[in-house]
Amino acid sequence: MAEKTIPYKIYLEEQEMPKAWYNLRADMKNKPAPLLNPATKKPMTAEDLAPVFCDELIAQELDDTTPYIEIPEEIREFYKMYRPSPLVRAYCLEKKLQTPAKIYYKFEGNNTSGSHKLNSAIAQAYYAKKQGLKGVTTETGAGQWGTALSMACSYFDLDCKVYMVKCSYEQKPFRREVMRTYGASVVPSPSETTEVGKKILAEHPGTTGSLGCAISEAVEVATKNPGYRYVLGSVLNQVLLHQSIIGLETKTALDKYDIHPDIIIGCAGGGSNLGGLISPFMGEKLRGEADYRFIAVEPASCPSFTRGTYAYDFCDTGMICPLAKMYTLGSGFIPSANHAGGLRFHGMSSTLSQLYDDGLMEAVSVEQTEVFEAAETFARVEGILPAPESSHAIRVAIDEALKCKETGEEKTIVFGLTGTGYFDLFAYERYNNGEMTDVIPTDEEIAASIAKLPQI
Ligand SMILES: *Cc1c(COP(=O)(O)O)cnc(C)c1O
Repeated sequence: MAEKTIPYKIYLEEQEMPKAWYNLRADMKNKPAPLLNPATKKPMTAEDLAPVFCDELIAQELDDTTPYIEIPEEIREFYKMYRPSPLVRAYCLEKKLQTPAKIYYKFEGNNTSGSHKLNSAIAQAYYAKKQGLKGVTTETGAGQWGTALSMACSYFDLDCKVYMVKCSYEQKPFRREVMRTYGASVVPSPSETTEVGKKILAEHPGTTGSLGCAISEAVEVATKNPGYRYVLGSVLNQVLLHQSIIGLETKTALDKYDIHPDIIIGCAGGGSNLGGLISPFMGEKLRGEADYRFIAVEPASCPSFTRGTYAYDFCDTGMICPLAKMYTLGSGFIPSANHAGGLRFHGMSSTLSQLYDDGLMEAVSVEQTEVFEAAETFARVEGILPAPESSHAIRVAIDEALKCKETGEEKTIVFGLTGTGYFDLFAYERYNNGEMTDVIPTDEEIAASIAKLPQI
């Protein structure tokens, strides 16, 4: 049969967009381990979670059995503003690499937040509004999540309080101003506005903060102010559920042209974009209907999958959040300054951790100079300046395509291009000046952090 000509961009019609999210956990034989209450070490119940999270989101978090969850009409309307996102055949990159491989990428950077995070932000804001809440609190490191959430909150007229890691607040004023433009209040963390912030400032005067500390502040504010809840942009099951829109659209687009991918690649910070992208394909693999290789790509400076331990750990440094079983480097692990801010979390989604532990998925770690080399190659031929996070996936997609060049195999590779890098030009400057270095933790450093894991 003659191959249909594949266009540069495969778009879906509005009516082809998914009407339900796919809950991968429903098809997993080994379910991800439940969140544990840090005080009792028993599985968190909906009542335990209610002071912190929105009710419907808790139901989604705890639901391991319902395969499809309808996307409410209001969220689908919002999605239509910037979705469906294109699935692009990287013809120019293939030509540049002179590879027989066929490369596709799903581009999620085409909205003001510049990343896939808006897919979950709008869902979380919707459920907060539906519950009649006044607002939500969150933390942000590099700023993508805070930006996405502020956009979502302004759409549903909700108050949005963002605790932004102080060094990012000072070094990345642009994202801060985007958030303020959408009406969010942005507080540098640690701050004097919370008990935990005051305590940290007293103990470590002059600290520039950390993600774990900002989480602790945001959770405190949500639980102390009536009408507020805390929301999180990655790691949680509910976030992977919302991000399944990426994979569902990808699958529909590929099916239109009878394309069967061999390898699916994504960068992994907390695991939400990767989990979303692979969901429907992993579902087929779990049900024995098809087979694929899945590759998670993480930075060598924060290698949770490739060098971490599969164990219960805290999600925050303040140790107030529920315990999650995941591949972790320990909640006290501080990754070295790395330009892919969105990949600096010490742990990994418990769903992906279980799949990885079951041998259903692979993981590799890459160093940031080779990541920026790939970003540069990609930007020059494909016309998109990629986010440093996304460029981790580009690196491994290029490596796999080059392997095909050696073997002559015409494999089909799909990777997630999660966002654009316009707010990361400081990182590109370092790379262009030849000043970028790779700081990789030693075995001793990782062992010392792992030694402090909670005993469960
Ligand atoms: C946050 C972010 C990531 C990593 O988060 P995941 O939850 O692992 O998907 C990747 N790329 C971009 C552009 C991001 O903003």
